[in-house]
Amino acid sequence: MLCNHELIPKKPRSSPPPETRTRRCVACGSKDIKPGRRYCSKECRQKLQWTLSLSKGLLQTLNTRYAAFSFTEHYVALDVMPTWSNEISRFVYERKSGYAPAHALKELILEAGKEWHRKRSRRISRSFSSQSILEEKTEKDINPDSIKPNTNKTPKLSADQKKALGHLNIPIDTLIFGDYVEELKKAFRQMAKIHHPDKGGDGERFKEIKSAHESMVEWTETPKFQSNSALPGCWSYNGYRNRWSPPLRQ
Ligand SMILES: [Zn+2]
Repeated sequence: MLCNHELIPKKPRSSPPPETRTRRCVACGSKDIKPGRRYCSKECRQKLQWTLSLSKGLLQTLNTRYAAFSFTEHYVALDVMPTWSNEISRFVYERKSGYAPAHALKELILEAGKEWHRKRSRRISRSFSSQSILEEKTEKDINPDSIKPNTNKTPKLSADQKKALGHLNIPIDTLIFGDYVEELKKAFRQMAKIHHPDKGGDGERFKEIKSAHESMVEWTETPKFQSNSALPGCWSYNGYRNRWSPPLRQ
């Protein structure tokens, strides 16, 4: 699993083209995953989630604004952008002896924590210890925008409304970006031209389209949306909410 940005400079790997991309467990990268699932097992999900919550102590100590966690076959990486800077610091840990990403991330957190305490024990203040540890890991080549999660707005639809969109042949994006009231009228007029019994269409099919139209008109009266803050290809942390989000579905 890779973030949009290059993960480990020493071992660059590019994402395969979408047609050859295999679905992998978002916690360990295993290909052994059932269709429609995001994790290979419940235990695998729990292990990574536990380690990600463990990381929150370190992330808060480092005054993290945004962070991203990603991994390749050989490494795990934790990218951190603190509140006081626009630069990214990258913590990397090798997946020695086939460590699962969760295991390697735990070691990475413990190592960074030890380093922080070493600095503190030299009578360096808490905030300076954090600043110093981040400065040592700064990677100027990483685009700071790659770590900022996009707020992804999607329409909240019932199962019937999702089917209705299909009957009316309306792409879901129209409900996000388009003038959906106008587009809905247009789609209904077009479908009626083809399927109205007066035009030689099938009565049953037309009934379906009419009811799909009514169902979508209902949605437009009080449209509801949901938003997810997430990154494609890697786990993202938002320091304002103190929360990790799984990768966006690609
Ligand atoms: Zn897994």
